[in-house]
Parts: sequence; C-alpha cells; structure tokens
Amino acid sequence: MERVVLRKGRERSVLKGHPWVFSGAVEGGEAAAGELVEVCDSKGGKIALGWYSPASQIRVRIVPDAPVADLVAAAVGRRADFFANAYTNAVRLVNAESDGLPGVVADYYAGHVVCQFTSAGADARKAEIADALMKFAPFCLGVSERLDADSRAREGLATDASCPLLSGAEPPELIEVVEGPVKFLVDVRRGHTTGFYLDQRDARAAVGALANGADVLNCFCYTGGFGLFARACGAAKVTQVDVSADALALAKRNESLAHLCGTEMEYVEADVFQFLRKCRDEGRRFDMVVLDPPKFAATKGQLMRAARGYKDINLLAMKLLKPNGYLATFSCSGAMTPEFFDTILAEAAEDAKKGFQVVARTRAGMDHPVALSFPEGAYLKGVVLRSLS
Ligand code: SAH
Repeated sequence: MERVVLRKGRERSVLKGHPWVFSGAVEGGEAAAGELVEVCDSKGGKIALGWYSPASQIRVRIVPDAPVADLVAAAVGRRADFFANAYTNAVRLVNAESDGLPGVVADYYAGHVVCQFTSAGADARKAEIADALMKFAPFCLGVSERLDADSRAREGLATDASCPLLSGAEPPELIEVVEGPVKFLVDVRRGHTTGFYLDQRDARAAVGALANGADVLNCFCYTGGFGLFARACGAAKVTQVDVSADALALAKRNESLAHLCGTEMEYVEADVFQFLRKCRDEGRRFDMVVLDPPKFAATKGQLMRAARGYKDINLLAMKLLKPNGYLATFSCSGAMTPEFFDTILAEAAEDAKKGFQVVARTRAGMDHPVALSFPEGAYLKGVVLRSLS
C-alpha cells in the first residue's frame, strides 16, 4: 500500500477524527486516483487509512479500516427506524463522510436508490457500493447514479447529464414518494441533486405546523415542498414562486396528487429578487414567507457576495410580513456559519425596523447525521422567526 506522509503537526486533525487531509498538509507520497493509502505522521508512523485524490485540494479522505460493503450495511442499518414507520419512504441511506464513506451519497426513493460519487475513492468503488446497496437497502429494486454534481469536477471526475443504472432495474420516469401528509413525484434523472431535497423534511413539517389558516408565500419552491405542506396543514392561500418552469410544472402535478382542499394555490414563474420587490410595491402582505434559496456561496471566497444576497431577500421578506407573521428562512451554503447567518438576519431586521423572535431552528433530518468531528457536514441551517410588529 502507498504511504502518504504528513507535515509535522498536521496529523492532529486526523487524530481528532477529521476526514479531510488537504494537499498543503502532505509532505510526500503519491498514489493513483481513488487508491487506498496509509496516512502517516511526519515520523512515518501509520495513523489512518484514506482514499487518495490526486486532482483535489482534499488530497486524502480518511476512511474506517473496514470493507466498503460493511460500511454501507452499517449506514443502512442506522436508518432502520425510518423504515419501521410509515411517515416516509424517501430516506438518505448514506451521508458521505459522516457515515465513513467520503463522497458517497445514496438517496432512497420508494425502492430506487440514486447515488452521487463525488470523491475519487468513492467513484472507484461504485460497483461494490451499488452491490451492497442492492443487498442491504430494504426492498431495493435498483441503484443508479447521477454524474452532474459540480464537486465531481473538483475531484477530476467526468461529469455528464446521464443517470446510468448500476444494478437492478431502471427507475420509472417519476417516482412517487410519500412524506407525512404529502405525496411527491421525484424526477431522479433531471431533478436537483438526486431529485429531491430530503434534507428539508423536518423544516417542511415545521412550516406545516405554523401554516393553519395562513396566506403563505413560498419562495424558491422547486417542486412545491414547503407550499404543499402548508396546504396539507390548512393554509388559506399558498403562492409558489420559482424561476424554473419545469420545477413549477412538477409542483402542480404534486398538488394534484393530494386531496382536494380549500387552499387557494397560485404558481408564479419569476425571479424571487424581483417578485419580492413587486409584492412590496403592490403592498401585498403575508402571514408566512418561506425563503429556501439555492447555495449562494459555494466557497468561502463567495461568502461576502452571498451575504448581500441573503440580506436582500430576508429584508424584503421581513417587510412583507403581517404582525405575528412567520419567516422560515434557510441557508444551505456550507461556508455560511449559523452565527453569520444570524448576524445577517439581525441586520435585515434592523433595516426593516421590526422586532422578531426565533421560534424554531431547523437542520437536516436524522437521516443526514453529521459526524461530531466533521462540522463541515452541517451545511443546512434554518431559522423560523415571528414578527412582533
Ligand atoms: N424549497 C425547495 C428547494 C429549493 S431549491 C424544496 O424544499 O424542495 C432552489 C430553487 O430555487 C430551485 O428550484 C431553483 O429553480 C430556484 N431558483 C434559483 N434561483 C432563483 C431565483 N433567482 N428566483 C427564483 N427561483 C430561483
């Protein structure tokens, strides 16, 4: 096995359990893309095993000393409780580094598993991982793979828009899943990431819990998630806004899967930044605004620009709230810390000249565990604010 030797002192984070070794921490040693290597301290003593990524800033990803199939079986086993209840049949089975499988994401949609392999080591082991998922995921019909994640390019891995089958049967065009009171159609070939934002499950429930009788504005609605939860929980009106016509079309189809109810639904194809200004100019007011934008900052370098974007939409949304109205606001930028996000919200509230209470904080659900030694895994932050005026 090839050995990668770390610079003096750089073994500390590995010994603490952090899964990433950056190129700057490496004194010497090379291996092929994806190869299993021994990670050694500066004196040459073996401290861990890892997968080598020659093209990436993250040169080695630490892995447990166990067969990959065992790691997949363990990760799936940790989700057993999800399959023991009937709330949902859409579950993240493998959450990358935090499950000891760096760069491996596996999402389960009613029997079909869709993976992303975003490290060289993960990519090199996809056949083995797919076989293990086929064997250990409950009632597994097939395993396929998305190749379009930006993070693949950063690892020097090929990207394209196809969704190859790795094992078992091809998924249908649209997979119907259930999440509590709502059904969703998931487009695993063309949808974002693996097709659906499983990470917002708990936040959708939180929004639903506050939506009874409310006039709700759901910004960046994608396939309708938050708005359909608000509808299922008795909202008077829901306005779903997204820039993507395809996303809105699927949101409408998702609405038609649900029981008829008295909620008035409006779909708006628009840029949220412009639509919020239009609402302001027209004097529209809402009982609840949901802001779940795409990642504004992919890297720390983009953080300040991203901060202006977050402040802009949050300030506009705050001004649109009726007294006692709720703002459910999210950031999925890993580079944005929860503290900085709170600071941006506080500045927006000051500019809006309104007082707010934090009534809830949300994060990705329990099928997205975060290793205690890997805080970078906690990218998703949600804050639910109540306007006091
Ligand atoms: N809230 C969704 C996920 C949102 S993903 C859910 O729970 O499922 C982000 C969405 O924002 C995408 O659907 C994308 O089409 C949309 N989007 C990106 N930029 C936008 C903009 N400037 N205006 C409106 N929608 C935008």
